[in-house]
Amino acid sequence: MRKHIFNAGPAVLPVSVLEKVSKAAIDLDGIGISVLEISHRSKEFDAIINEAIELMKELMNIPEGYQIIFVGGGASTQFAMLPMNFLKTKAAYLETGSWAKKAAKEAKLFGEVQIVASSGDKNFSYIPKNFTIPTDVDYFHITTNNTIYGTEIKTDFNSPVPLVTDMSSDFYSRPVDVSKYAMIYGGAQKNVGPAGVTIAIIKDDFLNSKQVTDRIIPTMLNYKTHTEANSLYNTPPVYAIFVVREVMRWLKTEIGGLENMKKINEDKAKVLNDYLDNSKMFVPTVPNKEDRSLMNITFVMQDPYKDLEAAFLDHSKKYGIVGIKGHRSVGGFRASMYNALPIDSVKVLVQAMEEFEKANLK
Ligand code: PMP
Repeated sequence: MRKHIFNAGPAVLPVSVLEKVSKAAIDLDGIGISVLEISHRSKEFDAIINEAIELMKELMNIPEGYQIIFVGGGASTQFAMLPMNFLKTKAAYLETGSWAKKAAKEAKLFGEVQIVASSGDKNFSYIPKNFTIPTDVDYFHITTNNTIYGTEIKTDFNSPVPLVTDMSSDFYSRPVDVSKYAMIYGGAQKNVGPAGVTIAIIKDDFLNSKQVTDRIIPTMLNYKTHTEANSLYNTPPVYAIFVVREVMRWLKTEIGGLENMKKINEDKAKVLNDYLDNSKMFVPTVPNKEDRSLMNITFVMQDPYKDLEAAFLDHSKKYGIVGIKGHRSVGGFRASMYNALPIDSVKVLVQAMEEFEKANLK
């Protein structure tokens, strides 16, 4: 029986996609060659990568003047690649969690970093508000979804300087006004595919702007290498890109686009949030509902029940629930509810919580 997969990433993928990609791992569209065996310079792969890019553009309504590239090294490599390419003197960062901190740490290797605001005073359990974006910086970096802490910036705001976001854990989970961003990047392994490929959407104007540094950049770490070669400068992760294309096809044909996806994700989050907000045993770690992520919902046991956390994890396993142990920086539990997680899995989680609460309430 298939489990209820709440993993934070790599994460749940649509079953129909898993079926298609496993067939193609034996034989791609009846050509007698596995997708794992095709050349990245073949006409078959050309069609795959181009369709993936076209669907990504269509689904997120990406305006003219943006490039999409597929690179390796995870979002963590982007933490360094971004400042290497674009940080001339100073950059601004919003500190909303461990990934945001790691991004800023890499930027410090290349220039001055101004932390515009931080929610570190309350263990990143909220999104800082009312901060001022400096105008004397090369770019402003945010992390739209904070995977570990369960907070999310759900609106695309205006920035006086190029706005760059790490969207690793809410990529393609809702419509995004891409025109507000100079660059969006993310690892694929949460919402859009398997581990092994990282996607960057970069505005041409940014690529050709005064922000581009004149430092010597290794070829593979230069964005232009990849934009100019349509991600084919070297051997790209062919299979991972193939899976991304299938996920994009699923988003378009089975889900019907990102408006629908957002609605489905909101419905899923509501099921768990409604329960959490009324529970006498579990409590969400992000008090402000506005800031609560639709992708990762974090919660702990209320004080009198803290010692029951391990028992609840055990209990949840009986329902086929996996991946809900919280990150060590928050403790408790984290339910990652990415695009492909069925709402029924969330209902099963709530049922497990209700039954546990009923049996153990003091
Ligand atoms: N940013 C965010 C928001 C993440 O959630 C993660 C991974 N969990 C990363 C960056 C790091 O990604 P990768 O493992 O692909 O380097």
